[in-house]
Amino acid sequence: MEWQIARDALDAIRAHADRAAPQEACGLLLGPHAEGLQPAERVMIGEARATANVSDRPATNFEIDPQALFRAHREARGGGPRLLGYYHSHPNGCTQPSAIDAARAAPDGKLWIICASGITGWIAGDAGLHGRFRPIKLLET
Ligand SMILES: [Zn+2]
Repeated sequence: MEWQIARDALDAIRAHADRAAPQEACGLLLGPHAEGLQPAERVMIGEARATANVSDRPATNFEIDPQALFRAHREARGGGPRLLGYYHSHPNGCTQPSAIDAARAAPDGKLWIICASGITGWIAGDAGLHGRFRPIKLLET
């Protein structure tokens, strides 16, 4: 599986992280439309959509606004872009998911992007870092 991300989406993630600091920024990663003609071995992240961080401890945690999540699922069902995963920032600079991230992530194959001193990508599964995250390479397009 190859994960490609549009430069605009990367720029949007970095800008959101800068704006939100010293709190964590978070948002949704959206892919091609459900009926897209992309080959199965390649996934393109076309949009990073900023959402509110509704965590009660936003300096060290994030919680995506459930309304935004609901809307994205509804759009996908209606033929809109697929929800591929989530991004959030670590104002402390750590590019790896935290143990808290792992505890809150479902092993559902979703993509997690972390924006810190660099941008890293992870797939949430049932093995890897904290028993949850496998690192992947993000290819900028
Ligand atoms: Zn985190």
